[in-house]
Formats: sequence, C-alpha cells, structure tokens
Amino acid sequence: MIQVQEHLFARLEEVYPELVTFRRDLHMYPELSHQEVNTPEKVAAFHRKLGLEVKTGVGGRGVIGILKGGKQGKTVALRADFDALPIQDEKDVEYKSRIPGVMHACGHDIHTAGLLGVAKVLSEMKAELPGTIVFIHQFAEEVIPGGAKSMIEDGCLNGVDVVYGAHISSIDPLGVVGIREGNAMANGDTFEIEITGVGGHAANPHLAVDPLVAGSQLVVNLQQIVSRQVDPVKSAVVTVASMDAGDSFNVIQDKVTIRGTVRTFDDDVRDWVQKSIEEMATYTCKGLGASASVQYVRGYPAVRNHPEETERVEKIAAEIFGEDKVHQVPPQMGMEDFAYYLKEVPGTFFWVGGAMKSEEDIYPHHHPKFDVDEEGMMYVGKLFIATVLNYLSQKEDKPYLEEQSI
Ligand code: MN
Repeated sequence: MIQVQEHLFARLEEVYPELVTFRRDLHMYPELSHQEVNTPEKVAAFHRKLGLEVKTGVGGRGVIGILKGGKQGKTVALRADFDALPIQDEKDVEYKSRIPGVMHACGHDIHTAGLLGVAKVLSEMKAELPGTIVFIHQFAEEVIPGGAKSMIEDGCLNGVDVVYGAHISSIDPLGVVGIREGNAMANGDTFEIEITGVGGHAANPHLAVDPLVAGSQLVVNLQQIVSRQVDPVKSAVVTVASMDAGDSFNVIQDKVTIRGTVRTFDDDVRDWVQKSIEEMATYTCKGLGASASVQYVRGYPAVRNHPEETERVEKIAAEIFGEDKVHQVPPQMGMEDFAYYLKEVPGTFFWVGGAMKSEEDIYPHHHPKFDVDEEGMMYVGKLFIATVLNYLSQKEDKPYLEEQSI
C-alpha cells in the first residue's frame, strides 16, 4: 500500500513545474484582501479543468473545489488562503510583483499553488478515493474580518469531518514541519481610546484639561495589566502602538487618541484584559478631569489544534520526511483566521519550512524582500496527500493510525 503513496508523491513531483508556473503568475499579479478578482477565477478554472465540482463567490470571494471519491467515506477539508499584502516588492527576481505596492509577502501564493497540486494528484485517483475532499481557497486572511468566517457561514464546512491547514515559513529550513497541539496562535484584538480634555493655551495649563497628560498616564498604567493582573503562567501582550496628540509647541489639545494591540491565548484572560483596559481608561482619565471612550475590537480567536489530528499529522510527517524534520513549536503571538474552522470541526494547522537556499535571501514574513523556496510546496503537498489518505482509510472501530499503511 505504501507504494500507492510513493506513486502519488512521484506524480506530485511531475506536476511541480506547472505549480511553479501557477505560483509565479500569482506572485506577479497579487491581489489585496477583499479585492481578489482574478486569483479566485484562476483557482476555479484549475479545479474545473480537473473535473471537480466548483463553487465560487463562497462567503464573498472564496472558492471551493469538491472531489467526490468513487467510494463511500468521510469528508476532509484542506484550506489555503490566497490574498496578498500592501507591500512594495523589492526582490530582484523575474517573477517579482508587477502590481505597485502589492505583494505576496506571506506565501499565500505558495499555499494556493500547493493545494492545487494536491487536487490534481488526488483527482487522478478519484475512482479509488474512499470519501470526499473539499479544497477551500480562502480570500482575505490578512485583514479583519477575514474570509474564513463568512466562508463557513456560507457552508464551506457543510458535511466536513476534519480540516487541515498549513503555512509556509520563510525562516524554517526547507521541509521542516513545526506543529503544536492546543494553543498554537493567539486571540488577536485591537483597541482605540479617545481621551477628551479641554483644549487651551500651553501657557495656561490651569485653564485647560490636558488629555496628553491623561493619555501618558494611561499608557503607563496599561503596562500593569500584564505585569500585575495576568496569571504569570498564562500569556498576554498589551502593546500601545501609537498616540495621536497633535504637533504643536504651544497648544494643549482637546483630544488624544491611543491605539494598540492585545494578544492572549485563554478566553478568560482575553475577557479580563478587555475589562481592565476599559476600566483603566475610564478611571485614569476621570482622576485627571478628562474622559475616555474605548473601542475594543475582537479579532481572530486563538488557533487551537485538536490533539488527535495534531498527533496524526506529526506521525505522518515523521514517517514521510524523517523524525528529525518534525518539531514541536512554541505558541505564537501571531494570529490566523484558520481558528474559525477549528471552532467548527476537529483539525490542525501546522508550519512547513520553506527557507531560501542562500542565507542572504532569507527574510521574515511581510518583509519587502520576502520569498520562499518553491519546493516548500512539495512538502506541504505530500503531507496533505498522506494525511488525507490516512484519515479516509481509517476504520471506524480501530483507533486511528493503528499501523495503517496509506
Ligand atoms: Mn499568512
């Protein structure tokens, strides 16, 4: 049976040049979140050519391809996002972005092309496939609200038993898989506090209420939420990222605005931090004669990987790439709207290394010179193929991974 898998991997290798072409086309013509027009069309066309059932405009701009196998079985969803970022591409490669100020700087082009490779290879074994595979191509992952929530509301997970997602990493060595059970990525929230005082002449502070002083005090007080109020064995970040307080030398402003970010893992910590920011803003400003209005916006929830599915991917990755290629990774304070899928069905989200071969080409995600080794697609693809077939071939009455061959 293992030969079947190797045959599929070999087939994926054959398809690789086509995937590179597809990826480079996306890379040259990236589209921003919620503005994707050509990308979903290209994806839909690829799936149609494979003979899959295709739905477009899912939840807005999403695309799903449905591959119904010739045999009865469960339904697995695989997700790839396809939006780009408002960054000017500064790489010197022939496939650099042709769209000024827009760039695939997070590897979502790699995710998309990689998933299409999986669809192509698995569609060729449609007759023997024991179940259904839903290929979820998600728009708008980079901005809140992302596309995941509306795609789910529009039914992309209907009938789905399990969901897997992967993210390429420009930092981790090629083919190294990073995985984590439980909290993998954070709840990501933002806040904006508008402080209102009474404006006046800088020479007459006693006739004004200075919102800048109230705001400065508040910035300092907010540092105490994490240091004094959150359980030290739990995690939270409260960062004040900006303060708009005018640009004068001799005017006391009447309004000051503070903006910032909150990251947490546990929902009780998230609730606490929100309440504490609201209270500190209200009372700090009140004590100084000013007033505060707080807008706290909850972004993506935390990515919580399900234990069984995480273990499944971990074991399969070790089997096909080698144990030394699989690492437990610490939780990350970044966020991902894959979290919404995991709130609906079991599954796991993992990282696959795709660092460029030469050291000087390695840049972090969202950097103007970001790039990844395209071979990363092969690792994502192989892991998806092996995981899907492992999941679909499991017997109901057997514990999963009971020395099954794929
Ligand atoms: Mn990303």
